[in-house]
Amino acid sequence: MTTIFGKIIAKEIPADIVYQDDLVTAFKDISPIAPVHILIVPNKEIPTVNDVVPDDEHMLGHMFLVAKIVADEQGIARSGYRLLVNCGDDAGQEVYHLHMHLVGGRKLGPMLRRE
Ligand code: AMP
Repeated sequence: MTTIFGKIIAKEIPADIVYQDDLVTAFKDISPIAPVHILIVPNKEIPTVNDVVPDDEHMLGHMFLVAKIVADEQGIARSGYRLLVNCGDDAGQEVYHLHMHLVGGRKLGPMLRRE
């Protein structure tokens, strides 16, 4: 099932794409939680981390390399940033096309709130 991210990757709907190659696409989150909020998305439609297979290993590692490149381009490599992947309902995943959030540009505070 193609999600909204699949349509962004195919350029069927607009997005602010900051990086694209044959494996991944990175674009600005439409509802940013920090001054820099980029989504790094595999071009292959993988719904969640639960759906990755051994053949995806290279692409998954590549996502980190692209995160580093984009963080540098966005000017937050030295100040720091957070990389986050939600998987499934309890994590609050909204779009079922695997993606890594790259968030920075301000002090982000503790990673998780204690309940
Ligand atoms: P998650 O909760 O991890 O599934 O995150 C989904 C993210 O996608 C949210 O931060 C949304 O703001 C973002 N998002 C949803 N639709 C779009 C869109 N059309 N363009 C850019 N980001 C989007």
